Amino acid sequence: MGEIRQIAIYGKGGIGKSTTTQNLTAGLSELGKKVMVVGCDPKADSTRLLLGGLAQKTVLDTLREEGDGVKLERILKEGFGGTRCVESGGPEPGVGCAGRGIITSIGLLENLGAYTEDLDYVFYDVLGDVVCGGFAMPIREGKAKEIYIVASGEMMALYAANNIAKGIKRYAKSGGVRLGGIICNSRNVDRELDLLRAFSKELGTKLLYFVPRDNIVQHAEINRKTVIEYRPDSSQANEYRSLAQAVIDNKDYSIPTPMEQDRLEEILLEFGLMNIGDDYKI
Ligand code: ADP
Ligand code: MG
Repeated sequence: MGEIRQIAIYGKGGIGKSTTTQNLTAGLSELGKKVMVVGCDPKADSTRLLLGGLAQKTVLDTLREEGDGVKLERILKEGFGGTRCVESGGPEPGVGCAGRGIITSIGLLENLGAYTEDLDYVFYDVLGDVVCGGFAMPIREGKAKEIYIVASGEMMALYAANNIAKGIKRYAKSGGVRLGGIICNSRNVDRELDLLRAFSKELGTKLLYFVPRDNIVQHAEINRKTVIEYRPDSSQANEYRSLAQAVIDNKDYSIPTPMEQDRLEEILLEFGLMNIGDDYKI
């Protein structure tokens, strides 16, 4: 039995981490892979599409209400294709460090034996910011050794991706964490594919996959399903299957080379992104 590939997904808020992660894991499960998804966002919406609307109580809420003797089945629910779904949850808004939920959850999952040998993948869907210690935890502690950053051609998405790369670089030596690539979740920005390729190259990594923007994603979301479950024959479902295959096949891991702000702006200028409106001025 091989080692579990533990993968963290980072990226700016709203970029499509949770949607992409769930469709990707649905694709992996179709290929017979055993996957666990650990939501690491206080929003606790990382597994909603896999669970099809089944109420998933977060680890922190369960601990608060039931105390220490929590059983694994209380915090781990089975979703589409046998995926195992966990939501860390967070403190009440404004109270305490939201990153604590991740630390508590992973510790509890380990103690309760959730990391079973038959697992092929564990995904951590982490909210945008790696500056706070808690959110860096999956990579800082070397739980997830493999990172993918979800980005798009929009400036703020690339700005966030570059910052995340700085965080990865910081933990690369101590935790052995590596960047596996950039996943573009398209916003239909002009020359987006070329821009993302150039950006990835500058970051010392590669564009792993380009996911097109498609309204079918929202239709599936309203129906609380991944696209793979909702419209298995659609072209978007096939895109997510190809993404899953790209992750399976990936063998390139690097310590990223984040850019200075000036260089990032230069690349954006080169691809015309700085000329399309005041919203994009720095
Ligand atoms: P994050 O987890 O990064 O905060 P979400 O996965 O919640 O972001 O996605 C934000 C919104 O973007 C959701 O409403 C989702 O349906 C939409 N979305 C994500 N990916 C796509 C796509 N490829 N095409 C169209 N809409 C998308
Ligand atoms: Mg999310």
